[in-house]
Amino acid sequence: MTQALIDSHCHPPSGSSTEWLERALEAGVRECIAIGTDLEDWGRYRSLANEFPDNVHWTAGLHPCHVGDDFEAHLTALPEFLDTVEGKPPCALGEIGLDFTRLPKEQRDLLIQQQSEAFTRQLILAKERDLPVVVHSRGTVPECLSILEETNFPANRAIFHCFTEGPDSLQAILSAGARCSFTGIITFKNAREVRESLERNGLENLILETDSPYLSPEPYRGKLNEPCRIDRIAEYCAEFFATSKEKIAEITRRNTYDFFGL
Ligand SMILES: [Zn+2]
Repeated sequence: MTQALIDSHCHPPSGSSTEWLERALEAGVRECIAIGTDLEDWGRYRSLANEFPDNVHWTAGLHPCHVGDDFEAHLTALPEFLDTVEGKPPCALGEIGLDFTRLPKEQRDLLIQQQSEAFTRQLILAKERDLPVVVHSRGTVPECLSILEETNFPANRAIFHCFTEGPDSLQAILSAGARCSFTGIITFKNAREVRESLERNGLENLILETDSPYLSPEPYRGKLNEPCRIDRIAEYCAEFFATSKEKIAEITRRNTYDFFGL
């Protein structure tokens, strides 16, 4: 029997249709983790996880790109989701972190300050609840690592998702005791550096994600991404590590389960 796959990071679409989940199940992707980004999707993903408890896990956290003047309101609302008593609790706090790309020039300093504060405060919330965190970092690995250190957050409970940098950056994360997960970017022709990181990360340490609806793997690049495409990413990894897709499924599921405590 084929091993079931798990998508460790996706953003399921809003709306009542769950055809994306049917397509995932058909492709052998039995589980996914719906990653929250702000107040709008936390409740939605919690409901989804309660509707499909065997297939959908969920998280809540304020994404750095969603941090703005109203971040205080989001952070005030967050504990209610983290401390969900009825139904399935979240398996992590996230995604949180730092992203200084595309900041409007006149607000840049303020937004960097707000992102750092939101990141720090959410790490504290996670630590208090003994939850792992999903970190979003765009060219900000050193800054993220130093905030993890300053807040005394146990690095082995942090995953840098959608890793897109070279092996030196990967090594900095691994040396700190944290880990990384990889998306369909590894299949892109121009992603040689990311593949070097994948190699350095190694098969035994592998965790995969789609980050859907973004970043469809080749040959679907540019098309809408969905959790079912983890199958293609796993297939690519099987070839990359000269092993079977079953082995990729087994390893990535074990690592994802261990990290998120599933
Ligand atoms: Zn994401």
